[in-house]
Amino acid sequence: MKVAVVRETAPGERRVALVPDAVAKLRAAGIEVLVETAAGDGAWLSDDAFTEAGATIAARDELAVAADVIVTVGRPDEQVAAGLRPGQAVLGMLAPLGDPGFARRLAEAGVTAISLDLIPRTLPRAQPMDALTSQANIAGYKAAVVAAGAFGRFFPLLITAAGTARPAKVLVLGAGVAGLQAIGTARRLGAVVSAYDVRPETKGEVESLGAAFIELASVGPASGEGGYARVLTEEERQSQQDELASHIARQDVVITTAQVPGRRPPLLVSADALKSMAPGSVVVDMGASALGGNVEGSQPGETVVTENGVTVIGAGNLPSTMPAAASAMYARNVSALLLYLVKEGSLAVDLSDDLQRGVVITYEGQVVHPALAESAGGTARVDGAAH
Ligand code: NAD
Repeated sequence: MKVAVVRETAPGERRVALVPDAVAKLRAAGIEVLVETAAGDGAWLSDDAFTEAGATIAARDELAVAADVIVTVGRPDEQVAAGLRPGQAVLGMLAPLGDPGFARRLAEAGVTAISLDLIPRTLPRAQPMDALTSQANIAGYKAAVVAAGAFGRFFPLLITAAGTARPAKVLVLGAGVAGLQAIGTARRLGAVVSAYDVRPETKGEVESLGAAFIELASVGPASGEGGYARVLTEEERQSQQDELASHIARQDVVITTAQVPGRRPPLLVSADALKSMAPGSVVVDMGASALGGNVEGSQPGETVVTENGVTVIGAGNLPSTMPAAASAMYARNVSALLLYLVKEGSLAVDLSDDLQRGVVITYEGQVVHPALAESAGGTARVDGAAH
């Protein structure tokens, strides 16, 4: 079986889907690995390093023909997608939800599509494959570092002959995987950290990292399914923003990480809250997206300074700004899933398996993922039988 790694071409994307360590692991399992020329350049991984690990370096058109499985970080680019042929598989963070046409096109092309970002995260055996968690950990760490870099003062308490610096006050909104990593990182830099999440079960996790947990009187517990938050009502949203504003006004740094699956990120920091912050304060919005983020007016990948001197950083692709670490972790996720899926030298799709049912989105010409099948006009299948 041949697995091919293509060079990512999305703007700003520096990660690569496999690293030499992962190549060696796949080779040991009898899987051949082809790597597109310069695929690892963005993560400082040379073609030679891949060759030494047992991969074959090839041009894009050669890979596309030879590969049984093409592995990617994001969606395959147009050129790769156009070259996919029936029976070939593509595996990456394909983000298929909310875009049924994407899965439909792959199904029509007879391609088996496997979307790592849909891995059922609560299954213990899926944890080594959980790319959302591995990349969120990196993003959370980097968000705290970015905030510290943009802040014109110290994070830690510093007592010197030239004066004493008080520690920075950092508030983290959203205490999931990324938020907890941001809290830990800000704490390690010496900041005084507080955090808030709508899921009350995060209180213990926040406190175990040495941060204070903020409870809002106006918003009740909002734990939803699968460890995620539920959508708040309009009334809850407004009270939350109002009550958070008084906390935000006292902070030097605010890092927002709140997400609700399948929805636009909740707005937590209003324009009025930004106005209440002191000049020199920094806000990093990890929820920044084209649809809007956690912070009013933030744009992904853009930094703006408000009239009152608050720097608002809309985080873009933070994991890609740490391409070596992010690629290494992502490659572990990819290789764990590949080794799970490959039986006797070929990809053995089995939709009776709950883990596979979570990640396989198209198979044998059908959109098979339950969350996509209906809208894509495919057939939701719960067993391995052909339709
Ligand atoms: P996420 O990225 O969907 O959301 C980030 C955080 O934002 C969550 O903690 C959420 O509660 C919070 N949030 C949403 N709306 C909010 C609002 N209006 N105000 C404040 N906070 C808000 O979540 P995630 O980090 O990917 O994962 C969340 C949880 O999923 C984890 O903490 C964990 O409990 C669970 N999880 C479990 C496993 C596992 O079982 N192996 C793996 C990964 C995640």
